[in-house]
Amino acid sequence: MNENNPSCYRFGVSYTCPICKSTKLIKSGKTTNGKQRYCCKECSKRFIINYSYNAYQPNTNQQIILFTKEGLGIRSTARVLRISITTLLKRIIAIATNIQQPPIAKGKSYEVDEMRTYIGKKSRLRWIVYALERESKTVVSFNVGRRTNKTLKHVIRSLELSNTRKIYTDKLKNYRYIIHKKIHNTLIHSTNHIERHNLSIRTHLKRLNRKTICFSRSLVILMAVLRIYFWG
Ligand SMILES: [Zn+2]
Repeated sequence: MNENNPSCYRFGVSYTCPICKSTKLIKSGKTTNGKQRYCCKECSKRFIINYSYNAYQPNTNQQIILFTKEGLGIRSTARVLRISITTLLKRIIAIATNIQQPPIAKGKSYEVDEMRTYIGKKSRLRWIVYALERESKTVVSFNVGRRTNKTLKHVIRSLELSNTRKIYTDKLKNYRYIIHKKIHNTLIHSTNHIERHNLSIRTHLKRLNRKTICFSRSLVILMAVLRIYFWG
């Protein structure tokens, strides 16, 4: 596979194991359409060199992440990569589950805000609640759900565990009940950074564009796409 690495030339072609990158490979029978199959002696995985189906190409997952962040929706990504929509959805979930939430630094200030979106149809209104660290402008926690204390709490609790200095929010009543008075701030213009960040997310992610029919059809995929966008 790796054409730049001369150490992995065997059988007249250059390649390594796509799973463990080992060069210790042996021939291992043929596929039904006559392609040579190889077996890795280190990890015992079997593979072929030129897959006909594009989803099996080694860089497909990187491209899925790239296109998702560049504002392509599910169907346009599937068209560009020439893979099926079902495969793409499965891959998005698989990629997202492997992404770890970054640790929340102690003693920082955060802005928390909600962003409106729909799941499946316009009557099914949902809110994306997320926390933005003020200095580094990184998203440290998010949740999707109805605009209730339960949804907001998930984000606020994760912040409180890390000795937060201040939490800046808008004047939504729910925050008064779930954030301690000492660290809560609702001053005007105090959520400017996160409001601007909302606009960036709406521009970058196809499913959050406004005045379109491109909103998410599934909560699971929306959560997965947000995870890839924030931390992937
Ligand atoms: Zn291997």
